[in-house]
Amino acid sequence: MKLKISGRAASIPPSETLALAARAKALRAEGRNIIDFSVGEPDFVTPLPALRAAQAGIDARDTKYPPNNGTVELRNAIARRIELDFGRKADPSRIIVSNGAKQSLFNLVQVLADPGDEVAFAAPYWVSYPAMVSLAGATPRPIPTKATEDWRLHPDAVEKTLASGKVRVLILNSPQNPTGAVYPPADVDAIVKICLDRGVALVSDEMYSFLVFGDAKHRSVLETDDPRVEEGVIFVSGVSKTYAMTGFRIGYAYGPKEVIDGCSRFQSHSTSGAAAISQRAAASALVECDAEAAKMRDAFSIRCRIAKERLRTIPNVRVPDAKGAFYVFPDFSYYFGKKIEGELVRGSNDLSRVFLDKANVACVPGVAFGADAHLRISYALDEKDLAEGISRIARALAGASP
Ligand code: PMP
Repeated sequence: MKLKISGRAASIPPSETLALAARAKALRAEGRNIIDFSVGEPDFVTPLPALRAAQAGIDARDTKYPPNNGTVELRNAIARRIELDFGRKADPSRIIVSNGAKQSLFNLVQVLADPGDEVAFAAPYWVSYPAMVSLAGATPRPIPTKATEDWRLHPDAVEKTLASGKVRVLILNSPQNPTGAVYPPADVDAIVKICLDRGVALVSDEMYSFLVFGDAKHRSVLETDDPRVEEGVIFVSGVSKTYAMTGFRIGYAYGPKEVIDGCSRFQSHSTSGAAAISQRAAASALVECDAEAAKMRDAFSIRCRIAKERLRTIPNVRVPDAKGAFYVFPDFSYYFGKKIEGELVRGSNDLSRVFLDKANVACVPGVAFGADAHLRISYALDEKDLAEGISRIARALAGASP
């Protein structure tokens, strides 16, 4: 017997980033020395105060259903963080805590988009955006950006996309996954204004807001000086990346009351509130772990420089600038149509497979992010492995034949 799978489920591809990470892990378990550039999480341990707060929750037997929208303690900590970081006084009753920012984003798309609506975002994009949009019955509307312009999302391009009148939601993501791009503050302000003028909901995924390096500066949509921000903008973030807490699964959204109420209804019938122990740990992180977060950011900043410098020494690999998150997104398309280790490389999937099988390096194919010329390289690993992994890539490419 074979049960029928819904069209909805059948239409959604599995997360390619998670699949690749799993394959790299399995090869490692077989004893292969794999350098894993596919990881989407910091390699650092969770800061001690957050771990202690989780332990205190266990000791206090805080093991019953938590409030659906998040504990008062955590929502207050998030509101405090928003005020500290972006100078905006946030009402904790307009904050919802979810099982990771992923769930906040998923809920928001469900709440804001109807079947037939379009949801726009920059391409290359984080793999989950198109899937979330399709699951809501809405239509993904990627807005192309160029490596040669360091992935700038031009306000003009946004304006043009929204002019169709079909777009209900724009998802903004800076610093960006997979490119590491950090949008110039003036562009963020201009995009906020365009959305507010047109009545398009702006969902700002600021997961990596703390991981910005060198002269780049993160501009939050919440810093835009326009009173309508409170009515038209939804801010999303979480503790996964800043505090190395991916496994705690805590993310959050702050936005207009009716939108957060909609998310609350969705969440109450799907997962209910996020784990109480995790909420305690997240509240501690947001209040007590600035120093640890800064230390991790400084390490990422050094690795970002190393990754770009080393990749730029490989002939015919173009490395666009990256100033945030923990990814670089080089263009390897020069090598497409050539053979490496006897294998014909037709696109990023092939190249990713060849790197993994022949060079023991795992990189996510750019096709997963809507950019087949590229591979995503995460530098969430130590400097020695980073350098060794890039050398392996260089050696593999040096053997390419027409
Ligand atoms: N947004 C972006 C751009 C991400 O890269 C991720 C994690 N890969 C998330 C949101 C979700 O993070 P989490 O669910 O761990 O909070």
